[in-house]
Amino acid sequence: METKRLTDTPADLQKAAKLLRSGELVAIPTETVYGLAANALDGGAVRRIFAAKGRPQDNPLIVHIADMEELPPLVAEVPELAEKLAKAYWPGPLTMIFRKSARIPDEVSAGLSTVAVRMPFHPLARAVIRAAGVPLAAPSANLSGSPSPTTAAHVLADMAGRIPAVLDGGMSAVGVESTVVDVTGPVPCLLRPGGITPAMLAAVAGGVSVNPAVTSPLPKGAAAASPGMKYKHYAPKAHVVLIRGTPAAYAAFVNSRRNDPVTAMCFDGEEGNLRVPYITYGRRDDPAEQAHRVFDALRRLDDIGAGTVYCACPSEEGMGLAVYNRLLRAAAFEVIDVDG
Ligand code: AMP
Ligand code: MG
Repeated sequence: METKRLTDTPADLQKAAKLLRSGELVAIPTETVYGLAANALDGGAVRRIFAAKGRPQDNPLIVHIADMEELPPLVAEVPELAEKLAKAYWPGPLTMIFRKSARIPDEVSAGLSTVAVRMPFHPLARAVIRAAGVPLAAPSANLSGSPSPTTAAHVLADMAGRIPAVLDGGMSAVGVESTVVDVTGPVPCLLRPGGITPAMLAAVAGGVSVNPAVTSPLPKGAAAASPGMKYKHYAPKAHVVLIRGTPAAYAAFVNSRRNDPVTAMCFDGEEGNLRVPYITYGRRDDPAEQAHRVFDALRRLDDIGAGTVYCACPSEEGMGLAVYNRLLRAAAFEVIDVDG
């Protein structure tokens, strides 16, 4: 099948909506990353998502809505905590986990009794949800395990020939997937960091707990609070190692390996001291810019055929936690401390 590239014209929006209503898949832009969307109320359509991505069947999907009235029918109840967080951060890069209603097909929740829901901010995402007239289930529009797509070109690199269309809405502004929080308890529990930081959640909810799997490997045999925690993720073909230390210690370490075919993934402004090929992903003190560029940088490493990549480790502060979480998984938790 040929994958059509659609744009933001009314005619193209109608084409996308028609495909979605008839049970087909369309990759759509959001402010986090591109999503591979299907009608969330149609189990058969949702099964196509898993097939196109090669996604494990037990990894549930996020349901995307455009307006608050769409939420109550999808969930068993809307806790007060969720109402507060929605008021503060919807539309935006926040996904909340609710107890699900009977309308959610098992394919979406992967057999769990809960469902993840988000209201994206991106105007084209909102327009296509409204035009389709149904909530859209959408995981990231990459092949399972590879870096998430932040441009229509990234989507086509993975999905050309596998889906009927991609709606091009430019480069995703946030660049990493949404913050995922469980709101079924008294305080929000962070399952995946993203553009809405722990401090932003705590400011509204009075507190926040962070699941240990955000920054540590899941212990062998342990149950995952969020099935996505179990899987190798966001990984390019290159062998990525995170290097934690000062700019000087990082440069010294990387340069000491310059006789091997290594590539540096470093911060902007710190490339001057490196004696190996490099790709940058934002300034050291600008985690929002790092988030915006991190997946594109990981994909470019494969484009240049990088073998071993020494990636400068981001801070865990604020949005840095989301970047750190993705890079830890891209590096399969391989971190070297280089400060003496
Ligand atoms: P993706 O769609 O690729 O951004 O991944 C969605 C993430 O949300 C995965 O890590 C899922 O495991 C997680 N998720 C979706 N639904 C639930 C749920 N009901 N409970 C916990 N985590 C969920
Ligand atoms: Mg994903």
